[in-house]
Amino acid sequence: MNNPQYRGRFAPSPTGPLHFGSLVTALASFLEARSQGGQWFIRVEDLDPLREPPEATGQILASLDAHGLLPDEPVRFQSRRHDAYQDAIERLLGNGYAYRCQCSRKELHANDGRHPHHCRSRKTIDDDRPYAIRFALEDEDSHWQDQLLGPQHQTVKAELDDPVILRKEGFYAYQLAVVVDDINQGITDVVRGSDLLDMTAQQQQIYRALGSCPPRWLHIPVILNEQGQKLSKQTHAPALNDEKPVSNLFRALVALGQNPPTHLATGSLESLLEWGRKNWQRGAIHLTSR
Ligand code: GLU
Repeated sequence: MNNPQYRGRFAPSPTGPLHFGSLVTALASFLEARSQGGQWFIRVEDLDPLREPPEATGQILASLDAHGLLPDEPVRFQSRRHDAYQDAIERLLGNGYAYRCQCSRKELHANDGRHPHHCRSRKTIDDDRPYAIRFALEDEDSHWQDQLLGPQHQTVKAELDDPVILRKEGFYAYQLAVVVDDINQGITDVVRGSDLLDMTAQQQQIYRALGSCPPRWLHIPVILNEQGQKLSKQTHAPALNDEKPVSNLFRALVALGQNPPTHLATGSLESLLEWGRKNWQRGAIHLTSR
């Protein structure tokens, strides 16, 4: 399968160093791109300084480099893209796809978690209170095809959970920035963890509101620890050992259902990645992972 138009990416949020679960996702997106002769990029989604230890970005980039996962363009940082997000927010506000929300948690709670009816259509805001900007979802039965998981159906319930796109604290939110950058970078294929599967229908609406066609999506089952929890910072997943890239990548290929010959476990990084590129079979990915 050759598709030189393919443009993929790995987009970590730098909340801690890379762990095995994130290596598996990075490797899957890399091999999907490379096996089709496509391009692959790295984008650091550093939108929330309060959740990002300052050393995490450097650690993640050093780990990807140590594992031979080299992008085709310089790494992009979302912290340098605020103008683009502001521009998108103004367009969405101007077209009626977004609104200012001053609801407090208490008010939302008192209204069964829904916005009071006037919130979306309020024309003026109270200058003394901070506001968030939310994307106004439309009620929709969304049907789409995941490249691995097959047909998907999600019901989007308007107003129930309109995603915040600019937080009260002034930070641009993931839901907006991920779409703005995927559009701007011409991403054709998003490969990411299945913990983000539920976000897809909302993000499709944001694509369309910004006048773009959504990409293809492929969601990789998340890697679980012995307790059945997702490997993450919250579950204390250990950082990858960058001194052992070949054995980490070998294990990541196995976690992705691939079947690398055992001698590659002690061979060179290049020969292992080259084997992965030539033999990549997305259909071999186990639909439940450990
Ligand atoms: N930055 C997001 C994360 O680390 C991933 C974004 C995406 O791939 O859509 O969870």
